[in-house]
Amino acid sequence: MAVATTLRITEIFHSLQGEARTVGLPTVFVRLTGCPLRCVYCDTAYAFSGGELTTLDDILERVAGFSCTRVCVTGGEPLAQPECLSLLTALCDRGYDVSLETSGAMPIAGADTRVSRVLDLKTPDSGECHRNDWSNIEQLTPHDQIKFVVCSRTDYEWARFKLDEFKLPTRVSDVLFSPSYGVVEPAELAQWLLDDRLAARLQLQLHKLLWNDAPGH
Ligand code: SF4
Repeated sequence: MAVATTLRITEIFHSLQGEARTVGLPTVFVRLTGCPLRCVYCDTAYAFSGGELTTLDDILERVAGFSCTRVCVTGGEPLAQPECLSLLTALCDRGYDVSLETSGAMPIAGADTRVSRVLDLKTPDSGECHRNDWSNIEQLTPHDQIKFVVCSRTDYEWARFKLDEFKLPTRVSDVLFSPSYGVVEPAELAQWLLDDRLAARLQLQLHKLLWNDAPGH
């Protein structure tokens, strides 16, 4: 008898996308449990453990129940569960517009290229910069996105250097600079971007502005 594919899930919910290219659009979020990183600013520590073992079929059924065309697979670090790859492909096969929020520490090579992979490159002040898997850069397509969470001017300079070093604006649809919430003033980061004429987009986290980051949004 075939063994059902299962994933450990923290939550599945319907909300507005808070980040990246589809910000503000209704989206179903599938939050996978677990993450091998410990970024200093992590706002989803509740997804580090616990969760519920759920079959792929059950996940797909719950997602379908929201009657929404967009799905964001997030975490934790979703790619820490190998079956995440099956989930991504199953969602694409069903015609959803799928995005994946991943830390940049796990290889994205196996993730379906129909998915818009949002690679969150870890800056020095995240405390997890050494975890970046730079081989991911070669895997990026124009459908993917890069995000930097900026905690300081040092982080900004580092991100600016990486942008040039890897010619990131030519590789992906969007390069996003997000101020670490409550640490860097959005207007300050905006001014840095303007001063340097950087080919990047300022990103504010809509779900924090609207709902103060309460789980389920
Ligand atoms: S990679 Fe994401 S979920 Fe994991 S510790 Fe960092 S911010 Fe939190």
